[in-house]
Amino acid sequence: MSMSIAAQPNLTMQSLWEATKPHIESDDFEADARYDEVIVGAGITGLVTALLFARAGRRVAVLEARHVGAVTTGNTTAKISVLQAARLQDVLDHNTKAVAQAYVEGQLEGLEWIVRYCRDHDVPVQRKDSITYATTFEGAKVVDRGFHVAQKLGLPVERLEDAGLPFPTTAAIRLRDQAQFHPLEFLAALVADIRRHGGVVIEGVRVTKVKASAKPVMVGSNRGEVYADHVIVATGMPILDRGLYWAKETPKRSYAVSFRAPGQRPDGMYISVDQPTRSIRSYGDDQLIIGGNGHVVGRHEDSTTGRVEDLVTWTKENFPGAEPTNAWSAQDYEPPHKVPFVGWMPRGRGRVFLATGYNKWGMTNAVAAALTLAGDILGGHVTWAKVLRRRITLPKTIAEGIGANLAVASWYARGWWRALARLQPVEAPEEGQGVLGREGLRPVAKSTVDGMTCALSAICPHQHAIVQWNDAERSWDCPAHGSRFAADGSLLEGPSIKPMKRLDVG
Ligand SMILES: Cc1cc2nc3c(=O)[nH]c(=O)nc-3n(C[C@H](O)[C@H](O)[C@H](O)COP(=O)(O)OP(=O)(O)OC[C@H]3O[C@@H](n4cnc5c(N)ncnc54)[C@H](O)[C@@H]3O)c2cc1C
Repeated sequence: MSMSIAAQPNLTMQSLWEATKPHIESDDFEADARYDEVIVGAGITGLVTALLFARAGRRVAVLEARHVGAVTTGNTTAKISVLQAARLQDVLDHNTKAVAQAYVEGQLEGLEWIVRYCRDHDVPVQRKDSITYATTFEGAKVVDRGFHVAQKLGLPVERLEDAGLPFPTTAAIRLRDQAQFHPLEFLAALVADIRRHGGVVIEGVRVTKVKASAKPVMVGSNRGEVYADHVIVATGMPILDRGLYWAKETPKRSYAVSFRAPGQRPDGMYISVDQPTRSIRSYGDDQLIIGGNGHVVGRHEDSTTGRVEDLVTWTKENFPGAEPTNAWSAQDYEPPHKVPFVGWMPRGRGRVFLATGYNKWGMTNAVAAALTLAGDILGGHVTWAKVLRRRITLPKTIAEGIGANLAVASWYARGWWRALARLQPVEAPEEGQGVLGREGLRPVAKSTVDGMTCALSAICPHQHAIVQWNDAERSWDCPAHGSRFAADGSLLEGPSIKPMKRLDVG
């Protein structure tokens, strides 16, 4: 998606990665084809998984609704790090020490797999130190605990007196020798490699149905049906309702801006523990990337454009002379135990698998998931993956799950109330805006984008919450489970498999 931000007319909403990506061709769709494995989704999870199967001599097809990397992987910040802000203590707080240890082992294997793969396939990758820092007294306590937890889990972290940032910090810890790359250069290499091993990667195929009771499994899509022994759902939030993952995970969106900032970029990859988050890395000779200002998808009272502009203001204050080049946004899913869901899907008869819930640390987690799934289906022995499965639900996780579901319920009520409380007819909003209202008892979402006004039913087709306008991306976003739709109602991402209903066409 490419559009400009009001206060920064030269700044387009398109990721630096999408703007500089290598060309990737699609293979042709063949209706009724038979594969060993069908992988749904061509992000990092789907493509690494597909490659592992293709290398094992299996006939694989990756079916991608949009284009390779279109959703989160093409809009990430692509830091490949085992030190993950406060994530390790979160994992330890919600699980046993053995599970937290296994989580770290999976991350280390993911990191090394990516670095090795990039070196072997001429994908540029830079080894960088990963630094977690705080700017407040409270944040310093979080960083301090992070230091002890990382040490307890065997990571050689160090405390830093000077974080190497151009503003004061209250604490910082470092894990050396992590990595960063251009995520779409990595995906392009994976696609080429999958093809070399006889697999296909097909864009523009939206999977809408998986019939696991049939053998082989039937995979239905907008282009027709195909068949496979196994289906792996690698769509971020799983598209199928089996397992109700959309009711268990919290969809979290956040923003990033790249800047031309020659000569004043810190060398490492940074992330703050204080809110709003600031994620910092470099790219190429002169680019600086700053991420942050996240929120649960669709749950914001303010303008999302304001969140992008705030990143620009913050960066210009802290890195004088930095000039924004690209802005973007993406979402990822937070699981209740803070450890991803990876494995067979409930009611999938042992033939349908999934991987989801990386909570913004998906580079290493996607590879760990792919290695786990390959072990499950091809029969390998991945020790840490087995320990991760021995997860138990602690009372803290249950309490947080209740809180998360109450928050979803309150957003349902708030959305319906707001739409129905509005008595006057819904007028066409000004350019770049969307408004909610009603016609009779029907909630209506009306937007004007590029001079075109569209009227849609404001009810999310997934689970019937009322959508919310996102002005930075000119999209309708669902506050309940994170489905997102373009201004014309077409589906962008999330658990929905249907577009929003148009009210202004026959
Ligand atoms: C702002 C942000 C910054 C981040 N930064 C980092 C970072 O620095 N380091 C890190 O490790 N992680 C980071 N992450 C997390 C990481 O980017 C993600 O976890 C990872 O990219 C997820 O990859 P995926 O393959 O699971 O999902 P995706 O990349 O979203 O791929 C899923 C694919 O499935 C396709 N799809 C969906 N539905 C269908 C369907 N019905 N049929 C066919 N295809 C379908 C989609 O079009 C999409 O291409 C960040 C996340 C965000 C949101």
